[in-house]
Amino acid sequence: MAETIIKIDLNKSPYENEKVHNRWHPDIPMAAMVKPGDDFIVECHDWTGGQINNDDNAEDVRDVDLTQVHFLSGPVGVEGAEPGDLLVVDILDIGTFEESQWGFNGFFSKQNGGGFLTEHFPEAQKTIWDFNGMFTKSRHIPGVEFAGLIHPGLIGCLPSKSMLDEWNKREKELYDTDPDRVPGLVNLPFADTAHMGKLNGDARNAAAAEGARTVPPREHGGNCDIKDLSRGSQIYFPVYVKDAGLSVGDLHFSQGDGEITFCGAIEMAGWIHMRVNLIKGGMEKYAIKNPIFKPSPMAPKYDDYLIFEGISVDEEGKQHYLDVHIAYRQACLNAIEYLKKFGYSGAQAYSLLGCAPVQGHISGVVDVPNACATLWLPTDIFEFDLKPGVDGPQHSVAGSMDVPLAKDK
Ligand code: ZN
Repeated sequence: MAETIIKIDLNKSPYENEKVHNRWHPDIPMAAMVKPGDDFIVECHDWTGGQINNDDNAEDVRDVDLTQVHFLSGPVGVEGAEPGDLLVVDILDIGTFEESQWGFNGFFSKQNGGGFLTEHFPEAQKTIWDFNGMFTKSRHIPGVEFAGLIHPGLIGCLPSKSMLDEWNKREKELYDTDPDRVPGLVNLPFADTAHMGKLNGDARNAAAAEGARTVPPREHGGNCDIKDLSRGSQIYFPVYVKDAGLSVGDLHFSQGDGEITFCGAIEMAGWIHMRVNLIKGGMEKYAIKNPIFKPSPMAPKYDDYLIFEGISVDEEGKQHYLDVHIAYRQACLNAIEYLKKFGYSGAQAYSLLGCAPVQGHISGVVDVPNACATLWLPTDIFEFDLKPGVDGPQHSVAGSMDVPLAKDK
């Protein structure tokens, strides 16, 4: 049995664990060292570090402190890794804790984080998902059950100092274009709630003041939220610092492409079993700038879809030029309106599109002026027939418990 090199205690604050951190900075000391060829297990908090409860009240999602996220386990140092290498990570397995057989999805208030459809769903809501082996269902969204496509939302290596400086520079430039925007364009460094692993004192304060927030994906990978990065995948990470410094967290039981609700997958605490190897000088050998990966040989099999199209014409009817963001939003809104005809609330449908094994595709980006994006909704996750028919929808879930909502204060 592989050794668990990072353990967590779900009953304790992640701030008490020096093998956990919530910012990216090259000075964060390695939490543990391994050798190429080793396999090992790392335990992870859910991304909020236990801020969300298994109940029918969304006030915790409304009041979540987003300056604390994401709590990552690591960094794991790999002996012999040097800048320019590729770190090869096999995700051998991922699992849940016996005492924590549930996960959550939420959409944040527009005042505190927002989400892809925040203009349509401006207040905080929460869905709880119960795990039953490889399957999950929710008391807040009736009529659906599906197999988990379990994966880490966030995994990557520490940046070098020059890379960190570049991130901070370019993100500040974007921030400065509209500093008052709600929700914000960028999350700038924020020292107060930074957890810098083993660092303390002046070294901690200096690193905390410039440590990059974990929200965006960047050149090192990070918060890519790729649902297909599931157990069985093999990932090739660029290495920027000595010993590489691999960190992981934000485990998801399942997620739809786009993670559209932002707190968007089925978020969970759990463990991940990994193996590491090195390709010396691999960044140059293969022209690697961002990570690449091979998907798992195993994945839940959903072959039948109802596919919703969206084009780059917004809700007000305004024409945009090849804007994939707007096209995908229209595809999502079209799917939500369709699901409402089966008795789902808009919030139930939105949450489902964030959590279920939904595929999102950029279908066309050349047919001016409209980009075309498609949302692929698997029909077999529903307990009833979702296809259009001459007699209209033959099933309704209306009257079920809705997704709990917490009004803004
Ligand atoms: Zn997540």
